[in-house]
Amino acid sequence: MRSTNWLRCGVPHPCAHFAHGWVHRAKRDLLLLSVISLVAPAASFAQSVPATKPATTPSKQAPPAQPAINNNIIVLDPAHGGEDTGAHIGQLNEKDINMQLATRLRSLLQARTFDVKLLRDGDPTPAPTADQRAGAANQMHAAVCIVLHSSATGEGVHIYTSALKAASETGSSAIVRWDRAQTSYIQQSMRLSDKLSEALTRSRMATSNGRTFVAPLDALQCPAILIELGPIHGGNTLPSDTGYQQTVADAIAGTLLQWREDAKAVVKQ
Ligand SMILES: [Zn+2]
Repeated sequence: MRSTNWLRCGVPHPCAHFAHGWVHRAKRDLLLLSVISLVAPAASFAQSVPATKPATTPSKQAPPAQPAINNNIIVLDPAHGGEDTGAHIGQLNEKDINMQLATRLRSLLQARTFDVKLLRDGDPTPAPTADQRAGAANQMHAAVCIVLHSSATGEGVHIYTSALKAASETGSSAIVRWDRAQTSYIQQSMRLSDKLSEALTRSRMATSNGRTFVAPLDALQCPAILIELGPIHGGNTLPSDTGYQQTVADAIAGTLLQWREDAKAVVKQ
């Protein structure tokens, strides 16, 4: 059974977007190409073939191979956008707070020589759909994807990983639907979630970890987490607070830096 968990900002349950699996796949592939040209027109990945595009009919599809990951690429998804404002937090809309955090985090990561891709740059109308965001992200072969939300309720930083079962639990020979691509990365995603939680705790930030079914996390082909900033200090400091955002962004950047170092160390072994 799928969890009925919703994010505190009220993000829609993914089932409405992902219920038809293969049927929507070709349509999604066409859509993602337009998104890629929209968010990163000069990037080399724009010429690449969609990683999940069926080679034959879906029934003959082999299990998708895990794409080679570029340890320098980080994908950030500032959730919502356009007419989808997300939650109302103080005097601001969530979509704008998510973008503030993404922009702050991008600067920190670029200073550490990461190549940062945003799935929404600015506030386009309409904003990319969850399907389009997942499709675009999966073209980038990123080391990590981070989806950013914020909310007016709760306390502290909530880190979510997909609630899908890991591929090792379901059998590696099973065909993985594109909308469940995260199954191959669950364990890495949970390890990343733990690392970030440790970093935030060292920064004296209230933190919790959870798992949920949510778009576009379930469809991402890389280690992926969703971060939702709630108020802190009993509601007196909102996610729009620059000091709060900086503390969280510092923790994320430090975690990703160590993540990259660990990946390099594994390669050398
Ligand atoms: Zn949200």
